Amino acid sequence: MNILHSISQHGHEQLVFCNDKKNGLKAVIAIHDTTLGPSLGGCRFWDYKDENEAILDVLRLSRGMTYKAAIAGLNLGGGKSVIIGQPEKLKSRKFFHSFGKYVDSLAGRYITAEDVNIRVEDINMVAEKTSHVVGVTNSPNGSGDPSPFTALGVFWGIKAAAKHKFGTESLENLKIAVQGCGAVGQNLINLLHHEKAKVCVADLSEDTTRKMKDRYGVQVVSIDKIHATDCDIFAPCALGGILNSNTIPEIKAKIIAGGANNQLLDEKLHAIALNKRNILFAPDYVINAGGLINVANELGGYNKDKATKDTIKIYETLQSIFATAEKKSLLPFEASNLLAEKIITEKKKEKQN
Ligand code: NAD
Repeated sequence: MNILHSISQHGHEQLVFCNDKKNGLKAVIAIHDTTLGPSLGGCRFWDYKDENEAILDVLRLSRGMTYKAAIAGLNLGGGKSVIIGQPEKLKSRKFFHSFGKYVDSLAGRYITAEDVNIRVEDINMVAEKTSHVVGVTNSPNGSGDPSPFTALGVFWGIKAAAKHKFGTESLENLKIAVQGCGAVGQNLINLLHHEKAKVCVADLSEDTTRKMKDRYGVQVVSIDKIHATDCDIFAPCALGGILNSNTIPEIKAKIIAGGANNQLLDEKLHAIALNKRNILFAPDYVINAGGLINVANELGGYNKDKATKDTIKIYETLQSIFATAEKKSLLPFEASNLLAEKIITEKKKEKQN
């Protein structure tokens, strides 16, 4: 991979490679854009097949964070980090201290938090070595696990999409397929269950899906069939790239609205393919901004009511994006990208004056 070419292609400011042989830490921190403020984005721990896969992931994820913060109206830029390796083998206090020191060395240009395979107890250990971290429980302003807020935002985003597509925001009796029953997926399933939606789920872990079945009476579907389930709404809440040339022709849902980052394997190509099939796609970085909105609140003194109200506003934000897209004959992802880019360009101009 030509790294400098890749980072300049989408305007990334900085890519930091971390290698601590003693503690087995291999990580990459990406700072995409700090026009609106310091970059903030979670840390993902994943056993990537090779370095290129990890770098591509962190580049795409950090760019998404820039757009997410802009649309959510936050004074934050976009960043993200990935740790490469098997979480269950590598996790230790020293390991997370080492990561914390790397984050600290960036002097606040990058603020970290949880993402896939990073739990609150892990991020608390990171916080023992740096103050540039949110989503913790071991500091007075800490708000802990952001995933309940991410799920709350996704829930209201699903309602906005249902209102736009079906004319009603009620999800009662709608069949909703949730891919991934992790931190976000489980919280979302709980909210959908209380809304009396008919939920079906899939996860890599049979233990987890069994728990979901026992707790909520959901139907369990195999992981290779969940996207093709006969349902009204498909909510991807696992990893990115699920919307691709293989899966899109098989999708039966009329709406795709879920918490996973980077759901479209190729942003433009696959958004067009969904549109051709008359499937409404809720841009992922808009609908899953609840966790970011919540942890960003820690930076100014945590206020849970405000974080909740701001998260629920995702309903209005998405409605407005769907309406603009329709009015200007754009796809929803194009309408939201243009809006985010406008916010950032205006800020850049303001800073130059
Ligand atoms: P998590 O690690 O808690 O859960 C992910 C779940 O997906 C796991 O249970 C895993 O077994 C399952 N999974 C992985 N591959 C799968 C597959 N092919 N089919 C079915 N299940 C599969 O992670 P999370 O925090 O719930 O995050 C889920 C997604 O939401 C990620 O894309 C993440 O980047 C995004 N996201 C999370 C937050 C947050 O607050 N945690 C915020 C914004 C976006």
